[in-house]
Amino acid sequence: MYKYIFGPVPSRRLGVSLGVDLVMSKTCNFDCIYCECGSTTKFYNVRDSYIDIDRLIKEIEDVLQNLTPDYITFSGSGEPTLNKDLGIIIKKVRKIYSGKIAVITNSSLLNNLDVRKSLEEADLIIPSLDAISENIFKRMNRPIEGLTAQNILDGMTKFLSTTKKDVYLEIFIVEGINDGEDELEKFVRYLKDKKVTTIQLNTLARPGAVQDIKPASIKRLSEIREYFISHGLNSVEIIKKYSSREELPKYNEKLEKLILNMLNKRKYSIDEMVELLQKNEVELFKYLNILQKEGKVKIVIENDQIYIRS
Ligand code: SF4
Repeated sequence: MYKYIFGPVPSRRLGVSLGVDLVMSKTCNFDCIYCECGSTTKFYNVRDSYIDIDRLIKEIEDVLQNLTPDYITFSGSGEPTLNKDLGIIIKKVRKIYSGKIAVITNSSLLNNLDVRKSLEEADLIIPSLDAISENIFKRMNRPIEGLTAQNILDGMTKFLSTTKKDVYLEIFIVEGINDGEDELEKFVRYLKDKKVTTIQLNTLARPGAVQDIKPASIKRLSEIREYFISHGLNSVEIIKKYSSREELPKYNEKLEKLILNMLNKRKYSIDEMVELLQKNEVELFKYLNILQKEGKVKIVIENDQIYIRS
């Protein structure tokens, strides 16, 4: 049983991704209402050496004997930049692994120069930004005392103006909290002159730390995407998984039948399906996620590849 590693998980964004937890569960300086790991139990804002690095490297070496993931991703059940050895760990992982490295962060420590330097060791950074206004930030992210929306924005501005890496900036939308017109306008004003690879809109897929919050519908996410694009933000995508056919903008019954028919005979890798059905991966995953939810297909990892089988 591994202590610091989880997965691998098949991911549309990252392909085959091996997850690494750099803090103890659940250590964070936020207590987000939508957190799928539940409420924060270790509410810290101190950068520390939370894990045994030698053990982590041994665990990764062990997994790499049987698997070559597309990404090793530092995320997990807490905030990875709270680990003060982040940069050293990424350098050590590079010595034993030639694939790509991603860090998913809540952006709270981007004001810290050492955190920004450590992130530059990765290939891809996925920082979140859920609010611009102070009151909405407090409602969404419920930060530890002393952290403000202005801290986050200052750090984000410094990070985005200096990073040379790919940045997928994630905005988590909770309906009725951070999707009001005023807040969307503020997002546009803040992001307009910032350089990011893509802006990704996400929402709840599973229950969060607070029970009565509502995930944004695909319709609402599409409206927000349109709003952002029409106000000059470039690459904006929705990464919420479609959970029903009704949510698909152009549901194609024939394509679904074809997918199920193919998988009746044998399993296919996602690359084979893309080639045979002449649809891109994003489009196919819309159908596959729904079919997986209904138990009609399984999305698995075998020999470093994502396979689909019935
Ligand atoms: S920042 Fe991430 S780990 Fe921390 S509470 Fe929010 S969602 Fe959970």
